Amino acid sequence: YRRIALARRPSGDPVPEDFSLESGPMPEPGEGEVLIEVTHLSLDPYMRGRMDDAKSYAEPVAIGGTMTGQGVGRVLRSRAEDVPEGALATGITGWASHAVLRGKDVRVLDEGTPPSSVLGVLGMPGFTGWQGLREYGRPKRGETLVVAAATGPVGSMVGQLARAQGLRTIAIAGGEEKCRIARETFGFDAAIDHRAHEDAGSLRAAIADAAPDGIDVYWENVGGRVLEAVLPLMNTHGRIPLCGAVAWYGATPGDTDHLPRAWRAILTKRLSVNGLIIFDHWHHYPEFLKEVGPKVAAGEIAYIEDVAEGLEAAPEAFISMLKGGNTGKQIVAL
Ligand code: NDP
Repeated sequence: YRRIALARRPSGDPVPEDFSLESGPMPEPGEGEVLIEVTHLSLDPYMRGRMDDAKSYAEPVAIGGTMTGQGVGRVLRSRAEDVPEGALATGITGWASHAVLRGKDVRVLDEGTPPSSVLGVLGMPGFTGWQGLREYGRPKRGETLVVAAATGPVGSMVGQLARAQGLRTIAIAGGEEKCRIARETFGFDAAIDHRAHEDAGSLRAAIADAAPDGIDVYWENVGGRVLEAVLPLMNTHGRIPLCGAVAWYGATPGDTDHLPRAWRAILTKRLSVNGLIIFDHWHHYPEFLKEVGPKVAAGEIAYIEDVAEGLEAAPEAFISMLKGGNTGKQIVAL
């Protein structure tokens, strides 16, 4: 029995010394549990976050604890009703040669399933792309979608689904070879090598060339320079499913740039951030008057006004309002 433990918390990008290989006696399944021999283990960007002690949507890995992760393998011993010995199964095994899991935390797979597909294209990352695109991307035929880490399991799923729905798809990937794969294997209409660009401005120019109609959906996987390049190219009413920001996962606390932290908060707190221009919504105005008008008349909704006297008082009242000189709605009474 071997496992990879977290030896210490990384500072910035992880290094080999942050991990340790441990061995020990083979774990024994208790009542309702199974022993799995792991054949395939998933490595995912989120695991970088689990190595930190920071409060997040998931518990950190303890020092000395086994690195977390999903695995696939064979059931060697079973003391759980629904999990037969010899079955192909998946669960959160961690980075280990074997794992004891509760039967109910294990999913038995069809024999024909390629084991590793359960960790990628048909597993958590593929599902992330499928669900996030339809719920938050809301793709429409004829629109343009940009995704970075485009040859990864999330990006490649997003790109292929969007293309099948009639969008123009633009991949951002690291290196020429990945760009070729993006076009040839995943059918992206264009692929841009972010590593070939020194700064966000030059990357932006390349993306703008590939997206002559602007960007309607930016699927966010990476943050960093790609985000900086893409944002000014977004079209009105565009959507940004915020899935990850892997370029910032190694960012050390105390950085003076607060965008990574803010961006991460949007993700982990599942915030909805919406641009609001009231002109888009005037058709609801009668509804507003009908609901709120009577409440104002009845004194259930209070309001206060600050009245300046005379037209000539307008400039001064306006200047003062911008600095907080008004208390309540600033009005000029002529
Ligand atoms: P990938 O297999 O695509 O691996 C990460 C890729 O990120 C790298 O291969 C690299 O691709 C790219 N990358 C790394 N650093 C940078 C950088 N500085 N600038 C630009 N690109 C960079 O990962 P996944 O498909 O598994 O995950 C993609 C994203 O989705 C991650 O951010 C992950 O955390 C997130 N995710 C979020 C989930 C959620 O529930 N919110 C669920 C699953 C994944 P390249 O060389 O092409 O640049």
